[in-house]
Formats: sequence, structure tokens, C-alpha cells
Amino acid sequence: MNMDYENVMEEIVSPLVNILMMGPDYPTFCKCKKCRNDIIALSLNSLPGHYVTTEEGRIRVFEQLNTEENRKWINKRIIMAIHTVGKYPKH
Ligand SMILES: [Zn+2]
Repeated sequence: MNMDYENVMEEIVSPLVNILMMGPDYPTFCKCKKCRNDIIALSLNSLPGHYVTTEEGRIRVFEQLNTEENRKWINKRIIMAIHTVGKYPKH
């Protein structure tokens, strides 16, 4: 695998955003790519970055970040982002 650098937080946030957006809590929320990207970008801006340069590092950091406790506060940031995007949609 040819990897330069990668933010592991991005890998954690992206599926969590999908789960929340498609979940029962936001049935009327716009599911388009634009809104999804805005939510991911906004969430990532409020979360610490965890950059890695190797596959071993990626696996290690992913395991450290992907705990139930971490997912809880990460979800909180995502929910804040969903509310912001919902209030000020770009379209
Ligand atoms: Zn949209």
C-alpha cells in the first residue's frame, strides 16, 4: 500500500456521519453529498487530527480511537455539525 499521510480521524468520522444521517434521528435531513461533505468537514474541524504515515501506525491509531467512549464524544461533535448544516444549508 502506497500511503503518504492520512488523518485516521477522517476514517472514524466518515462512517459515523453515515450512520447518524441515515438513522432515525434525522429523517428529514438532506442526504445529498454536499451536505454530507459539509458535515464531515465541520466535524473534522472541531476534532483533533491524528495523522499517520504508515499502515502499522494507521492500524494502531485506529484501534486507539475506535473505542465506545471515543465514538460517543465524536458523535457529539458530528451532531453539532448536523445541526449547523441543517440551520445554514448551502442550497
Ligand atoms: Zn443537501
